[in-house]
Amino acid sequence: IKSDTMPKFRVRFAPSPTGELHIGNVRTAIFNWLFARRNGGTFILRIEDTDSERSTAESERSIREDLRWLGLDWDEGPEKDGPFAPYYQSQRKQIYQEYADRLMQSGSAYHCFCTEEELEEKKKLFIKKGVQPRYDGNCRNLSEDQRKQFESHGRKPAIRFKIIQREASFVDLVRGKVSFNCDLIGDFIIIRSDGMASYNFSASVDDALMQISHVFRGEDHLSNTPRQIMILSALGYTSPTYAHLSIIVHKDKCKLKK
Ligand code: GLU
Repeated sequence: IKSDTMPKFRVRFAPSPTGELHIGNVRTAIFNWLFARRNGGTFILRIEDTDSERSTAESERSIREDLRWLGLDWDEGPEKDGPFAPYYQSQRKQIYQEYADRLMQSGSAYHCFCTEEELEEKKKLFIKKGVQPRYDGNCRNLSEDQRKQFESHGRKPAIRFKIIQREASFVDLVRGKVSFNCDLIGDFIIIRSDGMASYNFSASVDDALMQISHVFRGEDHLSNTPRQIMILSALGYTSPTYAHLSIIVHKDKCKLKK
């Protein structure tokens, strides 16, 4: 599909179906929907159900019902389909694997054999030292022998993104220029050892493939954006324009939960 046949403005509302929508999610959906309708763009509903333990068909159904009740009709997504179907991330596993393989081949990603327990131990050490925990790069440069040894012990690798830049910055429509020190982020997982893509990876790949032009989402996702920008750039895609909206909080300033 050529991008010049697509409307210029393509936005998405991408809920994880792990509970009912709350007023904060609805606010995000409204921003996206209004932006699409105002600009003759396309409003996409994408279901981010890669977390099979927490996602339920019941939540997914109630999200669709609530959006319909609010009059927030979508142009592409469940029930509608569209040129970039499927719009359920749980059905796009192979796509994520293919893009992770590309990153492996270009040297932007690597297999990580560290176990949960090992990572937990290292995390504790970081905290003890008073520094922000991050992956220490243990599996970045494994030799063929080391790799084989891990495999022979039955360890299944996760795939990590290899961060090479010192800084990631972007211009946010709400906040202006935002910069992150990448040293503090650390190589992060894009495909878990069970084969499922992480949120940052599936969201980035889908934003690229679905030709999303603008991402309006809660500012609780701000710290994910440098990761997504790095993934997109390593895959050779331009990032969408981001707008991180202030979030609605409880009286005690806690985030709303589903
Ligand atoms: N699934 C994410 C959420 O529900 C979507 C975040 C995003 O819009 O990228 O918070």
